[in-house]
Amino acid sequence: MSKIRLQAINSALNRKVSAYSAISNKASEYFGINVFDKFKMQEYLSNEAYQSVTDAIKSGVAIDRKMANQVAAGMKAWASERGASHYTHWFHPLNGATAEKHDAFFEFSDTGTAIDRFRGEMLVQQEPDASSFPSGGIRNTFEARGYSAWDPTSPAFIIDSTLCIPTIFVSYTGEALDYKTPLLKALNILDQSATEVCKYFNRDTEKVIATLGWEQEYFLIDEALFYARPDLHLTGRTLLGHASARDQQLEDHYFGAIPQRVSNFMKDFEFEALKLGIPVKTRHNEVAPGQFECAPVFEEANLAVDHNMLLMSLMEKIAMKHHFRVLLHEKPYKGVNGSGKHNNWSLMDDKGKNLLSPGNSPKSNLQFLTFFINTIKAVNEHADLLRASIVSSGNEHRLGASEAPPAIMSIFVGSKLSSVLEDLEKKVSEKKMTPDEKTELKLDIIKIPEILLDNTDRNRTSPFAFTGNRFEFRAVGSSANCAAPMIALNTAVAKQLIDFKAEVDNLIEKDVKKDEAIFRVLRKYITESKKILFEGNGYSEEWKKEAEKRGLSNIPDVTEALKAFLSNKSKKLFSETKVLSERELVARYEIKLEYYFKKIQIEARVLGDLAKNHIIPVAFSYQNRLIENAKGLKEIVNQNDFLASAHTQIETIKEISNHVNLIDNMVNKMIDARKDANNKNTIEEKVFAYSKNVKPFLEKIRYHVDKLELIVDDELWSLPKYREMLFTR
Ligand code: ADP
Ligand code: MG
Repeated sequence: MSKIRLQAINSALNRKVSAYSAISNKASEYFGINVFDKFKMQEYLSNEAYQSVTDAIKSGVAIDRKMANQVAAGMKAWASERGASHYTHWFHPLNGATAEKHDAFFEFSDTGTAIDRFRGEMLVQQEPDASSFPSGGIRNTFEARGYSAWDPTSPAFIIDSTLCIPTIFVSYTGEALDYKTPLLKALNILDQSATEVCKYFNRDTEKVIATLGWEQEYFLIDEALFYARPDLHLTGRTLLGHASARDQQLEDHYFGAIPQRVSNFMKDFEFEALKLGIPVKTRHNEVAPGQFECAPVFEEANLAVDHNMLLMSLMEKIAMKHHFRVLLHEKPYKGVNGSGKHNNWSLMDDKGKNLLSPGNSPKSNLQFLTFFINTIKAVNEHADLLRASIVSSGNEHRLGASEAPPAIMSIFVGSKLSSVLEDLEKKVSEKKMTPDEKTELKLDIIKIPEILLDNTDRNRTSPFAFTGNRFEFRAVGSSANCAAPMIALNTAVAKQLIDFKAEVDNLIEKDVKKDEAIFRVLRKYITESKKILFEGNGYSEEWKKEAEKRGLSNIPDVTEALKAFLSNKSKKLFSETKVLSERELVARYEIKLEYYFKKIQIEARVLGDLAKNHIIPVAFSYQNRLIENAKGLKEIVNQNDFLASAHTQIETIKEISNHVNLIDNMVNKMIDARKDANNKNTIEEKVFAYSKNVKPFLEKIRYHVDKLELIVDDELWSLPKYREMLFTR
């Protein structure tokens, strides 16, 4: 076997199970110890300072400088006791990662002595010299400054010896350069509009939050195998590799026993996560071999987003300790399931009531139906925007294959709720309901809770499914920052609730009774949006046809899908809700395009190199052996028997030549196509050229490489094969 491959396999096989460092089996003993949460704030802050942070969290009141100084001093006292020497503003730039720049607390006093200090101004605002973050043209070079500003709603935490302060990141002119800024705005407008609607049912509602529980899927691979595959290392996915004879056909991995080494890795990162206040709860094997999942208890959406970003970086760090690499790419291996990040989403009022959970009185059921139907309407209205919000080059390999939700947005609500909606809608033609009918309708709705108890028919093929007390947005990619879909969804629902309130109030002004007015508007909404409801198999061909008939869009093409950011509908949505200005939207669109083509550019380079430096030379070596063999035969067998004796060798020699010539030829053409694409003037033209002229070569070249993998002597093949990489232990 090739030396590199053999060494990699041996290292992986001989890997010792490394220990995990959880100090106790009781998470309650260490949960949140590295977080400056409200309990620590009570301990380290004056009442006054504590109150000002609480007010900021609850109602968005700004924290004044004097208070900021007090908070900073308390925060630093706590952080120093926990061993922190540095601090950083921690934010989510649009490159999809998290950013941090550590500064020491240490400074010189006026008299020149060394002191440790953390002033309010350092907490509240910084000016990171971060001119190389993507801005989509917002930050011109002449004014390259960006500001990060403290988000008090997400508590500060310590990693290693650094105090991390969650912040937003905006340009000098105030435009958002991150995910958090628009997310906070979306959650704020959602709070206002949902609270107003809640008041129809409970006058004393003061606040509504969005809740998010993400399920993070990922693959693990031994680090030696990872580094022996330049494609995995440089692009996050395998660009070549023939399917393993056995992978997930036997369906024996899902929920199977977790291998010891993997289990120790999980315990380790969960320990670190729990210390950071990330409430991780569920772990299991996923469908594909080598694939796993981690899910926390849901939290307020902004905090949940921060926690997911933190968890992803923690996983990467802890994996190294266990000599693993985490693959967060949506599709690391062709032919086996890819990874997603289901976003479970709901709304909760300040009494802790889940607004998408049907209650047991007519009043709470009407409230449930109000939020349920308004969400359906919002998703129907902004389906294209939601589709655009989950676009990435990685996710495109996953969507639409028979394993992940397709590129058509639809909503699954379950058969019982479908019939509730149908019943409700039936009365649509009637101007006014008789008292009997109204009671009948109410009684129908009272039945919802008992029905939901056995609502177990979970449709895994739907991109957006109602699962009893929440919606689950399943099309989100595993590596994504869930803020992107959360911005789109929460803004769309917020706007929808504003419109709903206006329509209902309008009817009430015309002397229609409140409940009746709500029913009428809801019935109209069902009629307007029922085309997006689909209970069947989202993977089927019939659904594609049916969706087209219904006028739903099916946008598999990434560049097409992204255009939804620039549609008049989206612009109007974001400007009316003040979540994103047109300039900010355009910037986001351009950044997405840029990342999309750059990923293809890197993949094309890597595949070209691999084909020329690994695959073709190996194929030649094997071909030489065959040629030698045939030559030898010629010497020992009789001339007339030669062709018959050397038949296999000669055919294989020809077959190899054929694949090699095709590969070489296509790699050269791909290089030309890339050069051509790089010379395009606008970003749209570049993306178009990359996706239409460069990308198709990736699959075509791979096809011939994978054929060669089947022919060439296993001993010579230099890259670890799927069967070696997939079965992580
Ligand atoms: P499944 O794989 O069956 O969908 P999991 O237990 O893996 O279920 O994940 C369910 C996720 O949904 C968890 O993160 C859970 O906390 C979250 N969740 C439950 N209720 C809500 C809610 N009201 N709002 C948001 N997320 C929720
Ligand atoms: Mg789920």
